[in-house]
Amino acid sequence: MAKSAVAVVRAGRYEAAELRPQVERALALLGGVEKFVPRGARVFVKVNLLPPPSPPERGIITHPTFAEAVLSLLRELTPHITVGDDVHEARSFEVGGYREVCQRLGVELLNLRDRGFEEVSLNGGVLKRVYIAKAVREAEVIVNLPKLKTHALTTFTGAIKNFYGVIPTGLRTALHGEHPSPAEFAEVLVDIFSVVRPALTVMDGIVAMEGAGPANGTPRPLGLILASADAVAVDAVAQAIIGLDPLRVWTTHHAHRRGLGVGDLREIAILGESLETVRAKDFRLPPAAGEMMGRIPPRITRWATRHLQAQPVVVPARCVACGACVRACPTGAAQFRGKKAWIDRKKCIRCMCCHEACRYDAIALHLDLWGRFFRAAERWVYRDRRR
Ligand code: SF4
Ligand code: SF4
Repeated sequence: MAKSAVAVVRAGRYEAAELRPQVERALALLGGVEKFVPRGARVFVKVNLLPPPSPPERGIITHPTFAEAVLSLLRELTPHITVGDDVHEARSFEVGGYREVCQRLGVELLNLRDRGFEEVSLNGGVLKRVYIAKAVREAEVIVNLPKLKTHALTTFTGAIKNFYGVIPTGLRTALHGEHPSPAEFAEVLVDIFSVVRPALTVMDGIVAMEGAGPANGTPRPLGLILASADAVAVDAVAQAIIGLDPLRVWTTHHAHRRGLGVGDLREIAILGESLETVRAKDFRLPPAAGEMMGRIPPRITRWATRHLQAQPVVVPARCVACGACVRACPTGAAQFRGKKAWIDRKKCIRCMCCHEACRYDAIALHLDLWGRFFRAAERWVYRDRRR
């Protein structure tokens, strides 16, 4: 018997008049928005706004028109809504289209650092304490609006990883440095998720990102909205749609194992479209560890991690010396050499913060010979799922 339900609804484009009924349909399949958001509740809505500022058409951020469709529904239930993310520059809200949307709907738009963070104790897989944005802690209901994207370190970013944005930037950078392997870093993400549980997740899969996500991949139209009370199940279904085995994606694997949601497709009821009709053929995954990591015995994980994780390399012809990679790097590996960025391989822990920060596609991801071999083996092993 299914333990969780995920609604999957088609949505053609980011057009406000068309999107609202499609979001309503997704939520109606789950019993209606009122089931998750009580009238008059204080609601925090977490969108995905990756710094530096990005316009919505690049496919990096949760699209503001998509967010507006969800927010307009919530606004009918409560006036106490805060939309937020932690961004380096407040300009992200203008460039991303959020300032305009929130003004139009009369809801608060907050850079999480402006209200501060509070310490939270937990008995996590890795973390024993963490700092969470006060605005998130004070909310009665959390609504999660992630973007469906690939991720160079974690393979996939969606509902669980969206909450990495509710901790302070400095801590985000430090945790990357302290827990560099994809498996361990996913534990960190699941630890944070375990203390910020959303009542409702509605995923923007209308234009997803494939390839070298989360910032330098290619927008890929999927035309889908996914919704559920179970954020883990939303990730699992999204992963299945793009050709991944959910339980071999570390975040889903850890969250399922720890009982924070359902990552096993056999225990998820998919409502609306069937999985078979929405599968994205030939969806390009990032040149990173991927599913094979789940098959590697723990004793050789460290060795394998070195080879299966891509190495960031600066493409000098594209580098405009903006310095974003240098500021994002937790170890000092990304530096300037003359007028271009350069990466010191000895110091690099392959956390991909520089790749995520660069908006000029000037940091390429390279796999060594072993990495390319494993990647080819992975494609062969999982060829039956990539129809
Ligand atoms: S590699 Fe990218 S982020 Fe780094 S300095 Fe060059 S353009 Fe900026
Ligand atoms: S160079 Fe990039 S991948 Fe390497 S440690 Fe610095 S930010 Fe992380």
